[in-house]
Parts: sequence; C-alpha cells; structure tokens
Amino acid sequence: MMIIMHPGAPREQIDAVIAEIEKQKLTSHPIFGVEQTIIGAVGDGHYVAKEIFEAFPGVMEVQRISKPYKLASRQFHEQDSVFQLDGFSIGGIEIPIIAGPCSVESRAQILEIAQAVKEGGANALRGGVFKPRTSPYAFQGLGEEGLEYMVEAREKTGLPLVVEVMAVSQIEMMTKYVDVFQLGARNMQNFNLLRAIGETRTPVLFKRGMSATIEEMLMASEYIISGGNTRVMLCERGIRTFETATRNTTDINAVPVLKKLTHLPVIIDPSHSTGDSAFVSAVAKAGVAAGADGIIVEVHQDPAHAISDGKQSLTPEAFAKMVKQVKAVAEAVDRRLVVSQHATA
Ligand code: PEP
Ligand code: MN
Repeated sequence: MMIIMHPGAPREQIDAVIAEIEKQKLTSHPIFGVEQTIIGAVGDGHYVAKEIFEAFPGVMEVQRISKPYKLASRQFHEQDSVFQLDGFSIGGIEIPIIAGPCSVESRAQILEIAQAVKEGGANALRGGVFKPRTSPYAFQGLGEEGLEYMVEAREKTGLPLVVEVMAVSQIEMMTKYVDVFQLGARNMQNFNLLRAIGETRTPVLFKRGMSATIEEMLMASEYIISGGNTRVMLCERGIRTFETATRNTTDINAVPVLKKLTHLPVIIDPSHSTGDSAFVSAVAKAGVAAGADGIIVEVHQDPAHAISDGKQSLTPEAFAKMVKQVKAVAEAVDRRLVVSQHATA
C-alpha cells in the first residue's frame, strides 16, 4: 500500500510510520519529495489493514494497491475455479440450474416439486428447513424432519440438495444430509458462522447481503475459503435500493464485475432479486447473458398457497418454459445447460 503523508509532516511522524510498517513485517520504501513524503509498504501478500496507518499522526491518505481479499481474487488465481457437485460441474462451460421451493413444507410437497423441477430441467434441488423470516411469528421451517424429506427427494430424483444453514449449531447435523450449504443474505457477515463453514468441506452457495458492496461480499467469502473450504459459489440475489417496484434490485452489473475480480463461480437468484414471478424469467436470462455460471430459482406447485415466498415462486410450467429460454441465451453466449446428469435411482 501507499501511505501519503501530509505536506510538511515532520521527520518523527515519517519515522513512526516506517517503524510501524516494519512491525507489521512489511518493507518500507519512502520517497521524500520537497514538500511531501510518500511511503510504499510492500509485503508478501499477508493482510495488513490500512486503518492501522490511517490513525498515525501526519498521515493524509492510505491507498491499497493489491486487493484486500486474496484467496478469492483473480490476482491470486487467474483461471476460473471449476468444481464438481453431484453429477455436474459449476464454473465451466455448463450452467447448472438449482430449483425448488423457498421452504420445505411437507413430505408430499417436496417429493412432488422435486420431481417437477427435475422434469423441467433442474440439476439440483433447493429447499429451506431453517428459514430466516422477518417475523419471529412466521413459519420457521421443518428443521431436521425437513432434511429427511429432502434426502428422500434426492433418492427419488438424483438431484443434490442445496439447503440454507443459519447457525453454527446446525452445521454438524446438516452435514449428514446436504450437498451444498446455502449461506443466506442475512448472514453474509456472520463471521463466526462463516469461519465454521470454512472448516467443513461442504460446497457453499454464498449469497450477497442485501446492503453489502461487492468488496464486502468478497471479503466475507474469504472467511470461508481461508478455512480451506474452497468450493464457494457467489450469488447475486438483489440489493436494497430506493426502488420499491420490486422486492430488491438485481445488480446485474455485479455478475461481470465479480467475474473480473474473482475466479469463483457466480450465480444469479432472480427470485429474491425481483420478488415477483412475473419478472423471474427475464432476469434469469439477463443473468446468463451477463455471464452468470448458474441460476437458483424458487418453484412451487401452488404458489398462491406457498408458506413462504409464493409471490416470487414459479409454477413448474413457468419454470420449464424459463429453462428453455435460458438454454437459448446460454448458447448465444457460448455456454450450455448441463447436458447429462447421472441416472436417477
Ligand atoms: C432463500 O433462499 O429462501 C432466502 C432466504 O434467500 P436470501 O438469503 O437471499 O434472502
Ligand atoms: Mn425464499
């Protein structure tokens, strides 16, 4: 980083900064100008917060040259990360589709919708059993019972399971059932949870916080990757803006921006980003056109009676239609949907 001193900063202040640079195991490279001194601080890549230097007397500004996130950045890993899930890969040429209800509501519901999304072209089944609801009085999810139903749905369809984990205390139990942990928007900066997920080797679908910047998202993902759990896919799920016509605002820009900044796969969630089934297909196509590596979408057999997020849930018919259109968009940008997944049981 570059530490720019105030014009006329006395030698003692410059020396104090240089001493701190060395204390932080960085090398200092001061450039003494006639009026102003700039000190370069160079390291081996280990993270040192720029705030440490900003607090020193005489420091005018500190500029970081390398990215504050390391393992997630393209500077560190130039090639796209491609990793295997059950029966398909993500991050390569193929675009997997994750679909299913917002919540697992009952055994019959999840078995029926799992079959329907499979027929419509899904490659993985989503379904929440611990729900982060705005109201504590709203349905909170079926918990472990819901996971047992999900496992039955996996046995019947072959679709791997993507399920949100909300607390450190749920990790051990959930590891036995799920193929991918979803880390929800409300927990994006729950650093204890991120560290604990980083210690597992279960792949992660990592959602952007609703008011998180792209840099904050990448920094947060670093908590997981630095624990050794490198199979993280990032998910743009809409951010809060002044716009009230939709539940959130899809930050389509985030897709190519993330693809530039990180090697991790990037997926799009048009359900939570729009909050309205009328707009889901359009935004799913936009996401793929913009370079997304996958889609996660909510589908329900009877959206009007869904326990959560019915308004944004597609019917199985609308889902199948969306998949056909997404396929055409994928091919227009030299990608394709998953061609063959392993045979179902
Ligand atoms: C969900 O996937 O149902 C969910 C709660 O998503 P998010 O964390 O993006 O709000
Ligand atoms: Mn939902």
